[in-house]
Amino acid sequence: MKVGVIGGGQLGRMMALAGYPLGFSFRFLDPSHESPAGQVAERRATPFEDPRGLDEFAQGLDLATYEFENPPLTAAQRLASRTPYFFPPVRALETVQDRLTQKNFFLSAGIATAPFQRVDSPQDLAQAVNTLGLPAVLKTRRMGYDGKGQAVLREERDLEKGWMALGASPLILEAFIPFTRELSLIAVRARTGETAFYPLAENVHFEGILRLSVAPAPNVAAALQQQAEECARSVFAALDYVGVLAIEFFEHQQQLVANEMATRVHNSGHWTMDGAATSQFENHLRAGAGLPLGSTAARGFTAMINLIGHQPASSDALAIPGAHLHLYGKSARPGRKLGHINLNEATRAELTRAVELTRGLAGVWLPQNVQAADED
Ligand code: AMP
Repeated sequence: MKVGVIGGGQLGRMMALAGYPLGFSFRFLDPSHESPAGQVAERRATPFEDPRGLDEFAQGLDLATYEFENPPLTAAQRLASRTPYFFPPVRALETVQDRLTQKNFFLSAGIATAPFQRVDSPQDLAQAVNTLGLPAVLKTRRMGYDGKGQAVLREERDLEKGWMALGASPLILEAFIPFTRELSLIAVRARTGETAFYPLAENVHFEGILRLSVAPAPNVAAALQQQAEECARSVFAALDYVGVLAIEFFEHQQQLVANEMATRVHNSGHWTMDGAATSQFENHLRAGAGLPLGSTAARGFTAMINLIGHQPASSDALAIPGAHLHLYGKSARPGRKLGHINLNEATRAELTRAVELTRGLAGVWLPQNVQAADED
């Protein structure tokens, strides 16, 4: 089966590497010569604005999907109309591309989320702060990622600064959730309607970028996992969804508050490559191809450590017992995701030790007081 993928970043690369053993082949749409997926599969540099080029890209494909959120909808629609099967549905992509649409979708699907207000002017901002109070988080509605396009407003004088920094784009203001931790769910629904859910992962961000995921997350009551799965089921039903879905939550007062969702494979699911019976990448492909889903059961305890801006020597990374190194073939730049290390251990105590050993390798990546790998 030939799969066309919009975007050729590391997510696409890992999707291809997961798909080859099952007999899939791939074609990526990405203009960059440095494309991580282009190093392991066919790549076309067709511009999104070129309908004929998109039609050529679609030729001979059995399936099409995407590995980043922000292709123009017209390009996704074009590809969807030219390939036998496109997933996750274009409607899902449309829903997540705009934070305001996404937030309204959460409300309509009965999923708890931080209170929010639309902001299109300094007056709207003052009004929104009146309603939501401070602190609050000002975010661009489109194209924000890894903490870009957002500002935390703590006091009145931050309003003007926030507006000056972000006001050129349509915005939303969200109430600040004083969460105890961040958790994410990777869920998958197949063309056949079959669903599967990975155990929740606990995520640590620093400077807006994911640094560490631990899975299964420690101290997760069955009810919390269930609440997360219910949210995913609501999304699946509302969007007639197929493929992997990631939902990022805040845990606040023992409840989950959805922050955002990604209608694709996700960084907080990279632990599944070495820590689950089937990886998120393989299950995404199985889902779209109408194949049975693989087990989402965790194998032992896993920590995923992102390598941001700095790539340690492979010999150092691999000297750590239980370490699996995944490099994306990118050149180093500050703030850039270059790879990750998955640490997989039989017990949480061993995992904690392995995380400590790895801490220095990844550079400045997480505050010292993180207890994410504690014993249950
Ligand atoms: P996002 O781009 O929405 O994923 O936000 C990046 C990070 O900013 C999140 O992972 C949180 O750590 C923090 N953050 C975003 N929104 C809020 C909020 N409403 N309340 C508290 N922290 C937030």
